[in-house]
Amino acid sequence: MRQSTYLAPTLRDNPSDAEVKSHQLMLRAGLIRQSTSGVYSYLPLGLKVLQKVENIIREEMNRTGAQELLMPAIQPAELWRESGRWDVYGPELMRLNDRHGREFALGPTHEEVITTIVKDEVHSYKKLPMTLYQIQNKFRDERRPRFGVLRSREFLMKDAYSFDSNTEGLDESYNKMYDAYTRIFTRCGLDFRAVEADSGAIGGTDTHEFMVLSEIGEDTIAYSDSSDYAANIEIAEVNVTYVKSNEEVKDVEVVATPGQKSIQDVATFLNVSEEKLIKSLLFIVDDKPVLVLVRGDHEVNDVKVKHLFDAQLVEMATEEETKKWMNVIPGYLGPIDLHDDITVVADRAIEAIVNGVCGANEMDKHAVNVNVGRDFKVQEFADLRNIKQGDPSPDGIGVIQFKEGIEVGHVFKLGTKYSEALGAMFLDENGKNQPMIMGCYGIGVSRTVAAIVEQHHDEDGIVWPSTVSPFDIHVVPVNMKQEDQKILAEELYESLKTARFDVLLDDRPERPGVKFKDADLFGLPIRVTVGKKANEGIVECKIRKTGETEEVHKDSLVQFIEKHLG
Ligand code: ATP
Ligand code: MG
Repeated sequence: MRQSTYLAPTLRDNPSDAEVKSHQLMLRAGLIRQSTSGVYSYLPLGLKVLQKVENIIREEMNRTGAQELLMPAIQPAELWRESGRWDVYGPELMRLNDRHGREFALGPTHEEVITTIVKDEVHSYKKLPMTLYQIQNKFRDERRPRFGVLRSREFLMKDAYSFDSNTEGLDESYNKMYDAYTRIFTRCGLDFRAVEADSGAIGGTDTHEFMVLSEIGEDTIAYSDSSDYAANIEIAEVNVTYVKSNEEVKDVEVVATPGQKSIQDVATFLNVSEEKLIKSLLFIVDDKPVLVLVRGDHEVNDVKVKHLFDAQLVEMATEEETKKWMNVIPGYLGPIDLHDDITVVADRAIEAIVNGVCGANEMDKHAVNVNVGRDFKVQEFADLRNIKQGDPSPDGIGVIQFKEGIEVGHVFKLGTKYSEALGAMFLDENGKNQPMIMGCYGIGVSRTVAAIVEQHHDEDGIVWPSTVSPFDIHVVPVNMKQEDQKILAEELYESLKTARFDVLLDDRPERPGVKFKDADLFGLPIRVTVGKKANEGIVECKIRKTGETEEVHKDSLVQFIEKHLG
């Protein structure tokens, strides 16, 4: 490709609305342009990378035996009503009407459509297992589109769906996808972890998220410093034995703590450690008030609360709801003398607190020397807190550390939720009608591109891994007015293309400084600079990743490039 006529507009400065590196660099290198909030065009350079990632995904999907198809973005509302999701999906679902007033959605995901296709076309166990996938634009009206294509409202996703006749089959289909994802993200040059995530069901490891490690990630991963254990902190189990101290149990007392609302304030004011404090938080769990107790230095994990009650919805009580149930504002809540309708549950650490401190359910007052059993009742003790750095790893090996991650992929065992709702049945070997057992598997293709940039850049620009780089080689003649440089550059451009490399030729009549800056910004793996020694047939090769340069004669250029591209 000739850069003189190529649509790859570069920007010298960081656009002010781009907060993270990948967004800044994708704009600056001319990969993307915003159309409206959370909606982007891919310019030619950006599209090439997107297609490289797509092709890696396609190869690995096909290798597992999965079959590619393409479903429509427009989906009729009836399908979503049948699955029960029309009313629960909420404002993220982009809805529209046709000229007859019929309702539709722009697909945020395709369980309904794929299940209907399979229901209509597959009826026997003999056709199973079957995994189908597509690579297609998805639509989600995100509350906060941000970071460019990392969280956008229209984005490219690979979504796959497996259909099996039994649970062992599902396990196998799931493992195949898991392994394919591992190969895909490895080939994309990403440093990632597959982490156990929340499946919405109690226990089990039937869902994993593939997380690219990055400080801008929105999810926190808890991992062991000495084993393979990695889980989203939402679900990481806390496996700590709390030991009760043998100090003498004292009489409970209410003390004034004017203006002291936070755990830190109260601990400092009363000169006790945060581990003595009982943090009391009021939640509304499926319309019922629940007071959750955790130790002062711990955080409540609402996913664990949700599972404990097998609830649909767990929300922090508003100030109004808190006043209604507890007669006091948050900051002074405690488990003593409660309204009968309030259920009290506590994290296991609470059981070991002797002479603790909690809110007195009165403005500016706390109760000290409170002891569970004597001063308040707990309906159930359970693991209800977030794991912390330094906690023992749940698998018993090593200590927990935290890292932030960007979710690029998700594998999930669905079971029969959609096949039952939409009637996707098959006849088994005994002639019995059974619902198919499904799995679903997503990869954010556009998010993956941004995640690659997030992990592969330096202060001068992008540093593409060669597997996804838009071009293999950047041929840069220093001065297009020098005839020998121009001729050699043209010659190399042709010969490298003949050698099956994808080549970008900077044939613009620009100053060398401008060309080199743009070349660094684009970040192609190898830059071939054609300069003063052109008349001798010698060029300078620069490896973008290391900055190393080497003079190479044109006759051994292909060999040099093959060695470095791997
Ligand atoms: P998130 O928690 O980041 O919103 P999700 O759990 O909603 O993701 P899935 O429904 O599992 O995502 O979708 C599959 C994949 O699609 C995700 O792993 C992610 O890589 C990608 N993805 C989801 N939402 C977006 C978005 N708004 N923009 C870009 N990619 C997205
Ligand atoms: Mg989402």
